Amino acid sequence: MPTLFTRIINGEIPSTKVWEDDRCIAFRDINPTAPTHVLVVPRQEITRLDQMTEADEGLVGHLMRVATLVAREEGLNDFRVVVNNGAGAGQSVFHLHVHVIGGRSLSWPPG
Ligand code: 5GP
Repeated sequence: MPTLFTRIINGEIPSTKVWEDDRCIAFRDINPTAPTHVLVVPRQEITRLDQMTEADEGLVGHLMRVATLVAREEGLNDFRVVVNNGAGAGQSVFHLHVHVIGGRSLSWPPG
C-alpha cells in the first residue's frame, strides 16, 4: 500500500505544492501550526528517520537543503525544521518528512 504522502506525490490526493524535483516534493501542511508550515517529503518511501541508511545520506541532506530554500522563498529568516521520529514523538504519517515551520515566534522546548 502506498503511503498517504506517496498518494499526494502521485497526485491522487490534492496538495498545495511549493517545491518539486526528482528526489522530493514540498507542500503545505493541511493543518498548519504557523503561517508557514510546509512538509518536505522524499519520493522514496522511508518510514521514519531512524530507518535511513548510509545510502540515504545524500537524500536526507537534500531534504534539509530544500527546507532552507523553501524557507527563503517564504521570506523566512528564522524558522524551525522538525522531524518527528515515531508515534511517541508525534509522528502520524509513516513516510519520512521534514516540517518547515515559521512566520511566528517559536518557543523552546517544543511540547
Ligand atoms: P507528523 O505528525 O507525522 O510529524 O506530520 C504529519 C503531518 O502531515 C501533520 O502535520 C498533518 O497535519 C499533515 N497531514 C496529514 N494528512 C495530510 C494531507 O492529506 N495533506 C497535507 N497537506 N498534510 C497532511
